[in-house]
Amino acid sequence: MSEYGLIINGKKVATTESFGVINPATEEIVGQCPIASRGQLDTAVDAAAQAFKTWSKVSDAERAAACGKIAAAINAHADELATLLTQEQGKPLGGSKFELGGAGAWAGYTGSLSLPDKVLQDDEKSRIVQTRKPIGVVGSITPWNFPLMIAIWHVVPAIRTGNTAVLKPSPSTPLSTLRMVEIINEVLPPGVLNCVTGTDDLGQWMTEHPGISKIIFTGSIQTGKKVMSSSAASLKRLTLELGGNDAGIVLDDVDPATVAPGIIHGAFMNNGQVCAALKRLYVPESIYEALCEQLVAAAKGGTMGNGLDEGTTQGPLANKMQYDKVCSLLKDAKANGGRVLCGGEIPEGPGYFVPFTIIADATSGMRVVDEEQFGPLMPVIKYTDLDDAIAQANGLEVGLGGSVWSSDPDRASAVAARLESGTAWVNQHGPISPNVPFGGVKCSGIGVEFGEEGLAEYTTIQVLNIAKSAA
Ligand code: NDP
Repeated sequence: MSEYGLIINGKKVATTESFGVINPATEEIVGQCPIASRGQLDTAVDAAAQAFKTWSKVSDAERAAACGKIAAAINAHADELATLLTQEQGKPLGGSKFELGGAGAWAGYTGSLSLPDKVLQDDEKSRIVQTRKPIGVVGSITPWNFPLMIAIWHVVPAIRTGNTAVLKPSPSTPLSTLRMVEIINEVLPPGVLNCVTGTDDLGQWMTEHPGISKIIFTGSIQTGKKVMSSSAASLKRLTLELGGNDAGIVLDDVDPATVAPGIIHGAFMNNGQVCAALKRLYVPESIYEALCEQLVAAAKGGTMGNGLDEGTTQGPLANKMQYDKVCSLLKDAKANGGRVLCGGEIPEGPGYFVPFTIIADATSGMRVVDEEQFGPLMPVIKYTDLDDAIAQANGLEVGLGGSVWSSDPDRASAVAARLESGTAWVNQHGPISPNVPFGGVKCSGIGVEFGEEGLAEYTTIQVLNIAKSAA
């Protein structure tokens, strides 16, 4: 049996087939990932359904305490999980530890949230109370950019509200999730949290599965549409957190040296592999060259390499598919008039390395502007008319985040309010927290995560409408 197994009903389960997970820094195999059969998915869903009968009835306090235990278990194994995460995802070890810290913090905070009953009416005629009930078995499908933190974002609110879950990580980064779920199972009753891994068909099997009542999915818009379509047959509840192509708009009153580091952080954090990264920067003509110069200065000085090596600040892209996509966007930008200000040269392998790259003279119509890069490329677009820049920012089918940069926060806030996005930041891009709802508009998603609004998505409303007299 491979070192890793599916986690079903609290036990590690072997599979007959497995595949090798690639370390994107070395292109060597990190470990063998089990491939679940359709029957094993059924067993996992059955285990979750069986556990739901009990878990949905335990006290609210017990479920809140379970979230605290999950947080403690993650924190206790953070170093082991961070090392494995770096090996299969590529991010520097410091970034992996940051992700584990976030996972523990989110689990703990989610435990402290609650959805108390609401009395909607209480008079001489009737008492009407709105309650919230768990939905059933939740299917969680996660991507490879923040595999552990996103898994926690998905499954802890499910568990907090009395649901049980079957989690499927991306085949690009499955091992750290399998190990994390194994660790979490030490503090949960069997069947409450299960983990299945595999290749192409498994996600679709989950979205079609009649035993799964809700899907929470984070990934591409294209796959999100497929998830929605195949969930329709059983009218599954859905939360979809899909891609974006976030715009940043710089106003003409900024000091370039002051804003450049924040813009670079918003664009290149996690190597640009962030759904709400700054992916298109609109800059007024009057300060265009001055800001470009400062952006280059802020982007330089890091060390690209294997995330396990001390001193590495930028790892490889997480997988070959993403590397090929980013390389193709870069090539296209160069061929279509993009002026590469820094980076832009792909080093010899092994490893899926692309340096931080800033592309000036970018315009809409170029693929690097119109498509989500999900990598360390930032196109900088010149504008002369602010209304036109806002129209361009709003001109795509996506709307996850966006930002406005100015020395006058009131002026910036007025522009930010005109962005068609789920979050609009001012003088920053990307911060999220467990008490603040996060989600997209247009094709960037359906529903929100985090906060009470995010928690409510794992419940259905039941209204108790009590007549005070039978007459
Ligand atoms: P996908 O959206 O294809 O994959 C995300 C997850 O969905 C994986 O676990 C995948 O598993 C699963 N999946 C794929 N097809 C289906 C299906 N029909 N039904 C159910 N689940 C399915 O993302 P990719 O990994 O292919 O990345 C492509 C692009 O997506 C990136 O270039 C980036 O632009 C964007 N992306 C956005 C993320 C975000 O945070 N919003 C995160 C990651 C990527 P499997 O591969 O086994 O099918």
